[in-house]
Order: sequence, then structure tokens, then C-alpha cells
Amino acid sequence: MSQGLAETDAGKEPMKNQNTSHGLWAATASPRPELGPLPGDTSTDVAIIGGGYTGLSAALHLGQAGRECALLEARDIGYGGAGRNVGLVNAGLWLKPDDLLRRAGPVYGERLLEVLGSSPDLVYQLIAEHDIECEALRNGTLHCADTKKGCRALQVRSAQWQARGAPVTLLSREEAAARTGSPSFLAALMDERAGTIQPLSYAYGLARAARSAGARLFEHTPVTSHARASGGYELTTPHGTLTAKSVIIAVHAYPGFAFESTRKSMFRMNFFQFATEPLPGDVLETVLPTQQGAWDTNLILSSYRRDEAGRLIVGSVGTVHGLAHGLHEAWARRTIAKTFPQVGEVPLEYGWHGAFAMNGNNLPRLHLLDDKMVMVTSFNGRGIGPGTAFGKLLAQYATDGDAERIPLPVSRLETLTTRRFWELFYEAGARLYHFFQRRL
Ligand SMILES: Cc1cc2nc3c(=O)[nH]c(=O)nc-3n(C[C@H](O)[C@H](O)[C@H](O)COP(=O)(O)OP(=O)(O)OC[C@H]3O[C@@H](n4cnc5c(N)ncnc54)[C@H](O)[C@@H]3O)c2cc1C
Repeated sequence: MSQGLAETDAGKEPMKNQNTSHGLWAATASPRPELGPLPGDTSTDVAIIGGGYTGLSAALHLGQAGRECALLEARDIGYGGAGRNVGLVNAGLWLKPDDLLRRAGPVYGERLLEVLGSSPDLVYQLIAEHDIECEALRNGTLHCADTKKGCRALQVRSAQWQARGAPVTLLSREEAAARTGSPSFLAALMDERAGTIQPLSYAYGLARAARSAGARLFEHTPVTSHARASGGYELTTPHGTLTAKSVIIAVHAYPGFAFESTRKSMFRMNFFQFATEPLPGDVLETVLPTQQGAWDTNLILSSYRRDEAGRLIVGSVGTVHGLAHGLHEAWARRTIAKTFPQVGEVPLEYGWHGAFAMNGNNLPRLHLLDDKMVMVTSFNGRGIGPGTAFGKLLAQYATDGDAERIPLPVSRLETLTTRRFWELFYEAGARLYHFFQRRL
């Protein structure tokens, strides 16, 4: 068993969460902001539910606009996807730009592409403006192909982004090998808008910045129910009631307590990562030598990146619960051996997983649960840029009530009838795929 997991199991991590959840990111994050639970009954203008990127960005931008707001997080800041992800700050969605335009339609498509295409600008601007220590690098990311089909997909993606003037370059096999330090890839798409961060540190930094801007933030404060009250809403928590004129719900793939039922509108895709111990200097120079984060074009995709200490982190679809842990850890070892043979045998220090929210057409969703109770969800595998950008837009919406600024139609929270099928498909499919992949 990897050493980091044993530490997590022993409960040494500051996060009060289940085992194998935040792994390397909890161990190497910048200091946690010191926040307590809601100290009794109180009121505010805007209540924000969820302490991930969306909620924190909303709190920061409301605070900066001089609006009174209070954020309630059920567990710890970054407990959800924000503290578990790969840390690739990418532009756009997983969808190719033309597919996004087709699916979002003429009214919203262009604006959505604009907001999501420039979302890394917002992320890195906030990091600079608020001195957020989060291992931030903005030197592009690499979308890699290890099959001919993948190469064709990259060509199409590259042409579509280039037609929109985006700084993306299709790299040849030799160039991809030089950038990745791996012989495995036939081509790669370099996107200069993108970069990498330590995801949990970014969440902590946003929390600190939001607090400095005047937002009140509370941890260990789950919203267990909500009701209309005169002039707004009453949110019940175990520590007291928060009364607010409007509410932003930012619970994404981790809806709990009062928002458990929103789970039915999405399918949750799990993604795990394993991190090696820091690699020796001479080996490190040859692994992702220019430090771009990378992922591949496969349906069950793999991700590759380094952290600041020189660990190699590989990830893919699935969990590291129970039996799946051994299977996926073995996959991670084979993947490192095949993709970066120069690394050799190296201990894995951490393994963890998390979930993100997917839906039928792979577009984010905007829901009005009530007059002044708004929710954005389903970032479909992206969330650092989208969460930060939508948080800012939701803050503006809470201020001027103009939903037109948000480049999404208001939709009903509907049950995704194929939810269980897709969850099983990806979880079981990933196990089967990983059992066989990279054995030869
Ligand atoms: C393993 C993994 C890899 C990923 N890789 C990337 C990547 O490389 N790049 C990228 O852009 N995106 C990535 N993502 C997606 C990204 O992490 C998410 O889209 C993003 O975190 C969503 O942010 P959020 O603020 O909307 O929600 P979250 O970060 O999930 O936060 C939601 C919060 O709401 C809280 N909450 C829920 N219910 C309640 C309640 N009743 N009361 C109070 N609080 C409540 C939860 O505790 C949680 O902290 C990845 C996700 C995972 C899991």
C-alpha cells in the first residue's frame, strides 16, 4: 500500500473527510485559512452554499463589489472537486469548440466559448492580484494522442481553435516527445492559454482573498434545509440559521444535506491520481521537462503532470476505494513504466480520487431553484476556469439580477434517467480497461 494512503487512513490529514480523498494536495497545500462554523443565527444579503471555486469566486467578487455575503461550507474549504483535481487550468470545455457552439446554440454558444476560453486569464489574474501561493505555472498544457484516431481528433480541435485565433499549436511526434519526455505520443496539442496549479492551495487562496474583501466564510456548516422567509430565504444549519435576500448554490458534484436531490440531474465521474515520491534531479529533467500538464485523447483518459517538489502524478477514470485501489495502483505503475521508462521503479507516495459532474450534452447548467436561488453546475470535467468564471458571473447576477450576463439558458433541474448506467459504465469500464491496458 502506498505510504501516503496509510497516513491519510491514520487521520493525520487536517481534512475531516473520508479516506483516500485529497492525497498529495492536502499534504502539500499552503496553510489553511482558519475558519469556524456559523456562530448562531445571523443574516446577510447573499448566502453562498459550497466552498469550492464557484462559491469562493462568488464570495470574493461580491466582497469586492461591497456586497454583504456569507459562504457556508458543509465540511472544509476545497472538500469537493476543488481539493482533489488534476490542477490543469484549461480553456474551454472537453467539447471541441464547434461542438460546443452546436450544442449551446447561437444565443449562448459564442458567449460561452468566450467566457470559458478566457477563464484561465481570470484564474491567473486572481492568483497574481491576491498573491495566491499555489504552485502556479502558466506555460501551456498538452493534449496528447497515442493513437491515429487521437491524432485526427487533435487536428480537428487544433483547426477549430486556430480559426478562433486561440494560441494553440499542433506538435509533431518529435516535438511531443521533446515536450513530454515520453516516446508514447504521436502528436500533441499545446494550448498556451493554459497552465497548472496546486488546486487546493488555489481554493485556500481564494478563501483568504474573499475574507480580506469582506466576505464571511464558515466551515463545518452544512445547509440542512431551506425555506422562504420574509424578503428572502432561511437556511438551516446545525449551528444556527442564516437569513439571506438571495442564495447562490455552488455544490457541483458533492451536493449533500439539503441539496442531495440535485444529484439526480447529473452523473458523477470518478477520477483517481497517484503521485510518486520526488524524482531525482537527473531523471526529473527528462520527465515533462518544460513542466506542462498533459492528458490524452482516450475515452478513459490518462493525465500526467508534475508538482513543484518534482513528483510525477498520473491519473485516470475510476476510484481508489477497496478492491479498485490495487488494480488502479498497478495500472499507475505500468503507466509510469511504459510512458516514462526513464523513471524506473519509484515508490508511490499518495493515491486519491474525486468526482466531477457530467450530464447529457456536456454543457454546464444554470438552474433557478426559486426566484432568487440560483445554481450553476455540471462543468463536465473542467471546473477551475469555469468555476472561477461562473462564480464571478453569479456574483454580478446577485447584484443586478440580470441573468442575461450568464451565457447559459435557465433550465429545469431534471432527472437524468441514464445516470446510473453512465456511472456504472465508466466505473466498471475503467476497471476493465485498466486491468488490461499497458500490459504488453
Ligand atoms: C479528480 C478530479 C480531477 C479534475 N481535474 C480537473 C482539472 O484538471 N481541471 C479542471 O478545470 N477541473 C478539473 N476537475 C473538475 C473540478 O475540480 C470541478 O469542476 C470543480 O471543483 C467544481 O468547483 P465547484 O466550486 O463548483 O464545486 P466543488 O469544488 O465540488 O465544491 C462544492 C462544495 O459544496 C459543498 N457542499 C455540498 N453540499 C453542501 C451543503 N448542503 N451545505 C454546505 N456546503 C455544501 C461541498 O462540501 C463542496 O466543498 C476535476 C475534478 C476531479 C474530482
